[in-house]
Amino acid sequence: MKRKVIAGNWKMNMLPNETIKFIEELTPMVKDTENEVILCVPYIDLFYALLNAQGTNIKIGAQNMHYEESGAYTGEISGKMLKSIGVEYVIIGHSERRQYFAETDETVNKKIKTALANELKPIVCVGETLSQREAGKAEKIITKQTELALEGLTEKQVKELIIAYEPIWAIGTGKTATKEDANEAIKAIRNKIAKIYGQTVADGVIIQYGGSVKSSNAKELFEMSDIDGGLVGGASLKPEEFSKIVNYNK
Ligand code: PEP
Repeated sequence: MKRKVIAGNWKMNMLPNETIKFIEELTPMVKDTENEVILCVPYIDLFYALLNAQGTNIKIGAQNMHYEESGAYTGEISGKMLKSIGVEYVIIGHSERRQYFAETDETVNKKIKTALANELKPIVCVGETLSQREAGKAEKIITKQTELALEGLTEKQVKELIIAYEPIWAIGTGKTATKEDANEAIKAIRNKIAKIYGQTVADGVIIQYGGSVKSSNAKELFEMSDIDGGLVGGASLKPEEFSKIVNYNK
């Protein structure tokens, strides 16, 4: 069976001492899961997270990176820097970065390429706004975002990445997409990948759902045919709640 991947996105929360405590508490709670567990933490916490997750089944990711390898980009972090300390995953194109930090489909595409060149696994976010959904344009928007994000990638590269379908209206709002709508949207993304790379590649790509996932709705979402796990924001900030999401099938 295909693996389920559950990633926490801490956003701009948690200090290094809180990170250490969190991982200490989470480790025994998720040690027996067959699901993949990832924590995407702020840059300042990465080193502490990596040290404290050593020897556990918790993997560590960053929340962003620059698309250039190095240079005069004050305040930025490169893929090579992330890789050098042992980071495995990086979120790319989160809607908050698209909304507040001028991230575009073009920069998302460049970042994915640089991440893969540095052997980082990108978690690529796509999702529609509420008005786009209400206008019946959700599928068109998310499949276009997917196509642009993957532009120029080889089949081998596409197999390395994770896509997170995150309807913007569901992020941090407490409103979750219905399991049927989330599954349909993810199917549409998968069909788009199949059109470009073939059905076998598309079937192998992990596509998560994100948007107000919590322990009370994780099971019904993650049991849907096309949903391969979740990207979890608010509910990933408490070890017990996050562990219940990771252990949704226990
Ligand atoms: C997110 O930040 O990717 C997210 C889905 O947030 P939340 O779970 O809080 O809606």
